[in-house]
Amino acid sequence: MGERIPVILCIDVEPDPRRPDPAKAATWSGFERLYPFLRELRPRMADATGEATRLNWFWRMDPQIEFVYGSPDWGLRRYEAEVSETVAAGDEHGVHPHAWRWDMTLHRWVSDYGNPSWVEHCMVTSFMAFRSVFGKGCESVRMGDRYFDDRVREALDRLGCRFDLTIEPGEKPIRALAASEGYTGLVPDYRSVEMGPYRPRVEYVRERDADRSEGVWVIPLASGVMSDRGLRWRRYMRRHWSSMGPIPTGYGTLRLWEPPELVQPAIDETLERMERPYLAFAIRSDVLLNPWWGGNCRRNLKWLLRQAQARRYAFCTPRDLLPMLGLSAGGGRDCH
Ligand SMILES: [Zn+2]
Repeated sequence: MGERIPVILCIDVEPDPRRPDPAKAATWSGFERLYPFLRELRPRMADATGEATRLNWFWRMDPQIEFVYGSPDWGLRRYEAEVSETVAAGDEHGVHPHAWRWDMTLHRWVSDYGNPSWVEHCMVTSFMAFRSVFGKGCESVRMGDRYFDDRVREALDRLGCRFDLTIEPGEKPIRALAASEGYTGLVPDYRSVEMGPYRPRVEYVRERDADRSEGVWVIPLASGVMSDRGLRWRRYMRRHWSSMGPIPTGYGTLRLWEPPELVQPAIDETLERMERPYLAFAIRSDVLLNPWWGGNCRRNLKWLLRQAQARRYAFCTPRDLLPMLGLSAGGGRDCH
């Protein structure tokens, strides 16, 4: 049958809009739609793989949530029943800090990654809120807007975080995920990073340091090559009408909400290319609210379960992934 292929499915649980109206503490309807879908899919995932399924939930608990909802842990409290159910299923819970700051003078949100002390404040707020809810430290993180640098690495090490799933190999540096939003800083350059978990070199987080025996593990998301052929009409529509920009081509993140005709062959290629294959995907909790994204995401997930090699997949947590790839999850605090 061959070795198991770990598959990490990350869900960023957040308000539907990126810039929620502070005057309206709207419930997270995307999560309310996505949760029952994944709940129903879970036994099918277990059937297809022959193993219990574990999912990975990354909660927004940063100052934007605090400002709009009155408390950074609003999401976890509001969706307490879902949290308990997923904890009982063995799922991983972590935080998903964004660096949104409400600018009092401009009266708008600014994505403030150019402000390192604010980024750190957002991280610390999230980790503290996590501890207040779960009564234990947070071990897994996905930074907002794939932002990661040495200050982030340093803060994660200090906060005792063990697994990071932020980095997206192949992605170019860009000014902002959506240029129409207020922002500072740059979304980093991940073109030199390859897939495969690693401990980052201090001050050079895109490089691996095989000698480090402590600190956070970076588990890069799955990347592959999206063909630039076919789908002419859809490409045209996306280029001209979509706020999400054109359909990506070339080497970059494999996003489950992109067209199955392009994503599925790219996933196959990625698995063939890797000596120790694994997959790690991230979806935003609002993915099903848009029929286009939602349809693609459903089709891609169901396709994964229908594949001949689905028996080899193990939907798992970062803690499970490392030993499956022959790496020791320990080191650092576990090391004596
Ligand atoms: Zn996010």
